[in-house]
Order: sequence, then structure tokens, then C-alpha cells
Amino acid sequence: MTKSALFVSQTAEKGGAELFMLDLLAHGPRDWSGCFFEDGPAAKDLVAADRQPIVLSSGTNLSAVRREASALQMLGAAGTVWSLARELARTGKDYRAICANSQKALFVSALATRMIGRPLVWVLHDIITDPAFSRNTRRAAVLFANLFATRVVANSKATAQAFADAGGRSERVRIVYCGFDPAAHPQGTSAAGQALRRRFGLGDGPVVGLFGRLTPWKGQHVLFKALATLPAVQAVIVGSAMFGQDAYEAEVRQLATSEGLDDRVRFTGFQRDIADIMAGVDIVLHTSTHAEPFGRVVVEGMLAGRPVIATKGGGVNEIITEDCDGLLVPPSDPAALAAAIARLLTDRDFAARIAGAGRVTAVERFNISKTCADMAAVLDELS
Ligand code: UDP
Repeated sequence: MTKSALFVSQTAEKGGAELFMLDLLAHGPRDWSGCFFEDGPAAKDLVAADRQPIVLSSGTNLSAVRREASALQMLGAAGTVWSLARELARTGKDYRAICANSQKALFVSALATRMIGRPLVWVLHDIITDPAFSRNTRRAAVLFANLFATRVVANSKATAQAFADAGGRSERVRIVYCGFDPAAHPQGTSAAGQALRRRFGLGDGPVVGLFGRLTPWKGQHVLFKALATLPAVQAVIVGSAMFGQDAYEAEVRQLATSEGLDDRVRFTGFQRDIADIMAGVDIVLHTSTHAEPFGRVVVEGMLAGRPVIATKGGGVNEIITEDCDGLLVPPSDPAALAAAIARLLTDRDFAARIAGAGRVTAVERFNISKTCADMAAVLDELS
């Protein structure tokens, strides 16, 4: 029997793109499967969810090639790409479509789908005009998408626009927002707040939470500059360095120390289930310094019924309606961030109002059932 779709990821680490794929596979039809170029936590999660992942055996060398790789590095990996493509083609022939969930997966899947005559969907999670991508990587991705992908699924209008700006064929693009299961996100209570304070040895004062990878563009340093001007406010920094970007963690820990924040900031490392922590903080923060392609943590904060302050730009502008279901601040502006935190801590009624409205927005617009239906509609277009 031919199954519907094989979602392909080069990494089995759990970044936002991989969590999107895991959510689709956990909540979508059982004939959607997940395939990884390496074993890791995301593959193990699928096993735990009784969705057997496919882990290709030729992928190890590719994990050394990062997204900012030069053309020469990519060329050096050509042998691995070819072996992966052949392996993927053998597995992929059981599926009606292959959905590449990352750029490296796009290159491999493009070759594999040519070998077996299946349509290719590229699930795009990045603003590819972002300077983090080398020009060659961006050009190669757009070229492959234009040549080989029947559809490009973008996780926001901002992501879709950047693809078009980089020369991508916009008529093939469909928007599918990230979706969440509201039942998996308990709403904040004062008991959750007390539990959080006990767990991380924090005092009775207000606690803000910043959730995401420790990497410069997620802006943990912006929060530390803001906290230096808010002496009563404590913070939990939830997340770890990922994808080999370890240097920033040491830098940002040093910054916390030099700003005198050690007694009121806690680095929790990566947490498998952040919902409980979100439910315990007074404010959920998002401090990215660049436009966020989507911003899962923003929706997760809204689902927790916590007031959210996020950086303006990118996908976040499509999630939050300013001063209605969240607050927006300019990127890299510690003073504006501090003012927004102070406003929510002072005006608790306003904070409760936007938190309540945020939960409604998140449940109605970013529900996993809608995401699965939107993805299924894209797959239906292929047949
Ligand atoms: N996340 C997590 N544990 C952590 C920190 C983050 O599970 O310790 C999750 C977070 O809940 C979110 C995802 O990682 O679902 C990050 O997605 P987002 O879109 O915010 O950023 P990305 O990593 O895709 O740039």
C-alpha cells in the first residue's frame, strides 16, 4: 500500500522545525511518517509516540555541514548527499510525496524524488534572506526549490515573502502555521508560580521567562541589559545551545555575572516540556534580534495564559495584535523591553486581559488540528 507523506529532516535535535514535524506526525494521519539523517531526541520522541521513525544510515557526515556552509563544504559532502538520496529513494517509494523539512533535507530529497518520480514539498522554516545564510546556500536552496519542489510550505507570510524576495516561485507557496495542542499547555496558576520558584530556588518577586536556543539572535543578552534596570525582577532562561553554537552560552553567562544578575537569573538548560515552566512565570518573553520566521514560543506563552512580550517583525507580527493579545517591542532595545515588563507588572489588570486574549488567539488560530488539515490540503493538491 502507498502511504501518504514522508517528512524528512536532516537533524534529530529538537529545534522549532523538528518540533513542528513531530507535532504533525503525532496528530496527523498515521500514514505520515518521519525520516531523519541521524538518530537523536526527535527520532526517540516518535518511537515514544508509537510512530516508528526511519533513520538513514548514510547521514553522519552531513551533520558536520552547517547551514552557513560554503559551496565548497557542500561540494565536499556531495558523496554523502548522493548516498542519502539513494537510501531515501528506497524508503520514499512507499510514499506518494516527500516533504523536506529543512534545507539539507531539500537537497537530498530533490535527488531522491527524481529517482522515484514522486512530488517534492519543501517545508520552509527560515527567512532565507537572513544574513545567517550564506549567499551560496540561499541561492542553491532557491534553485533546488524552483527546479524540484511542486509546493513550498512556508511557516508564515514573512517566510513566504523572503522566499519570493530571494527569487523563489511564489505561486507554489502555501502558508501552514505551526499548530499546538491546547490540552498540552496548562494555563498559569499561582500554584504553578510557587512550584517554579521552589524548583529553581527563586524568591517571591516577579519572574519572567525566556524560552529558546542559546544563540545570539534569540537575544538573551538583550534581556540581561533590561534586567539590570529592573532590580526586583527574576528570570528563568530556558534552553540550550544547539546545532554546534556553543560559544554564546559562555558569553551570555558572563554577561549575567557582569550585570550583577547571578542571584536572580537561572539557566535551566534544555527542558523537554516547557509548558509547566511557562505556566509558572509572570511574563513570557521573546527577545529575538532578527525577524523570527514564526516564533513557536510566542504562541506557547499565549497558550499558557501568560502575558507575552515579543520582538516586532517576521512571523511574530502575524501572531500578536499589539496591545490586544500581547505586547511588541523593537528588536535589540533593552529600554523598551524593560518598560514593557514594568508596564505589565504594574498594571496587572491589563496583563490579565492580554493574557486571556492571547490564549483565545492561540487556541483559535494556531491549533494543531488546523495545521494538520492545512498540510493535508497541500498534499491533496499534489494528486
Ligand atoms: N524549546 C524546548 N525546550 C527548551 C527550549 C525551547 O522544547 O528548553 C522549544 C520551544 O518550546 C519551541 C521551540 O523549542 O517549541 C523553539 O521554536 P521557536 O519557533 O521559538 O524557535 P526556533 O528554535 O525554531 O528558532
